Amino acid sequence: MNMELSRRQFLAAAGAGVAGSALGAFGFGAVESAHAKAIRDFKLVNTTETRNTCPYCSVACGIIMYSKGDLKKGESAEIVHIEGDTDHPTNRGTLCPKGAALLNFVKAETRLKYPMIRKPGSDKFEKVSWDDALDRIARLLKDDRDKNFIQRNNDGVTVNRWTTTGFLAASATTNETAWATYKVVRSAGMLVFDNQARV
Ligand code: SF4
Repeated sequence: MNMELSRRQFLAAAGAGVAGSALGAFGFGAVESAHAKAIRDFKLVNTTETRNTCPYCSVACGIIMYSKGDLKKGESAEIVHIEGDTDHPTNRGTLCPKGAALLNFVKAETRLKYPMIRKPGSDKFEKVSWDDALDRIARLLKDDRDKNFIQRNNDGVTVNRWTTTGFLAASATTNETAWATYKVVRSAGMLVFDNQARV
């Protein structure tokens, strides 16, 4: 179709958001297809959504982590984007600047990913397995409690105190996990109990 296209007509068509189809109708099909090719795929296409909780503070905002890589095919999953969970009652999709930068936290080279121990006299931390770490923690807790547990005070009143070991919990847990943690710590007699958000 031969048709005179004024600059005003061209801008009107583009401004109405129908530039591609208008150009095609005016005989600019090549432009339309070039325009279509230039549009990138939505970056979250083919990603897996995983819901989680921001680990930074006690507000415990809900997040969605988007990852690529199919574990069932032996691929390793890689988180490519994190955003607020719009369905979460706490934050309804919003995140503060720290939460909005969570992807950097996940990919930080200094991020701790496994238990580490600095042995007595050593100047460096070494990686240990979870089994070794949990066995060692249990052993040290038991030994210390057996040695220092106070069943009665000087007046003979039952107090059941364990004051020589403390417990630092995380705030980014579920209510159920927090409840179980509290019960274990308090029923063991531990008085020194805190968490990262001090709540
Ligand atoms: S996004 Fe901000 S306010 Fe929400 S839990 Fe994370 S650090 Fe706290």
